[in-house]
Parts: sequence; structure tokens; C-alpha cells
Amino acid sequence: MRFIIRREIIKMLIEMTKNANVEVCGFLLGRKEGPGKINSLVLEARGVRNRLKSPHAFEMEPEDMVRVLDESEKRGLEVVGIFHSHLKCPPVLSKRDLEGMKNWPVVWLIITPEGEMRAWVLREGKVEEVEIRVA
Ligand code: ZN
Repeated sequence: MRFIIRREIIKMLIEMTKNANVEVCGFLLGRKEGPGKINSLVLEARGVRNRLKSPHAFEMEPEDMVRVLDESEKRGLEVVGIFHSHLKCPPVLSKRDLEGMKNWPVVWLIITPEGEMRAWVLREGKVEEVEIRVA
């Protein structure tokens, strides 16, 4: 399983993370590819407001979520992932993130202001790391 992201998108996400004093979050849109549609190609990142306005946690603003999801559907893009930042801890899932993953069983990408990033997915109830490929 691979998560393929364009370099420009990664740059944009790191910039977004660096310029915020709260966790940033949003959707990664694109399409599934390969045998069994196991790989994901990220074509766009769309930020959503963090309604908690917290440097330690996030919750996506429902109004923004609906707008992004509607738009992606109209344009034939799939939600292949969710991104958010960790400002002061490594890009590994928090307890809260794990709970959130149960509601959104897509790839979860975590970014730090230093540009470190790791991706995770819940498969059959277990957390697995996903290989990130820069395209
Ligand atoms: Zn987190």
C-alpha cells in the first residue's frame, strides 16, 4: 500500500503547518489506483477550519467539511486521506486520532512544522504505517 503525493502538495502542507499556531487539518483528494485499488494518488489538499482552535487537537468544522466533500464529489475526486499537524510532538497517532480514525477509515497523514510526515491507516482494527511516495 502506497500513498503517492505530489511534491507541491507536501510543500503546501508544510507551509500551512508552519504558519499556524493551532493544528491544521483537512482532506486529501485524489483517486485509488493499482491492483485492488490499494494505492492512493493525492491530487489536492483542502484545508478545513479546526473548530477546536487548539495546538494539541483538531476537529474539522462541519460546514467546511460538507463544502469540500460536495465539491470533490462533483469533480469526481475521492477522499483518499485526512491530514493534520502535530506542532510539538512526533507525527504518530494520539489516542484522540485513533478514535477519529474509526469514523474516517482513510489514510491519516500527520505533518510537523519541521517537515516530518508519516501516514497511518486502520486495517482490520489494527494501525499500520503507510509508505509515502513523493511524485
Ligand atoms: Zn493528531
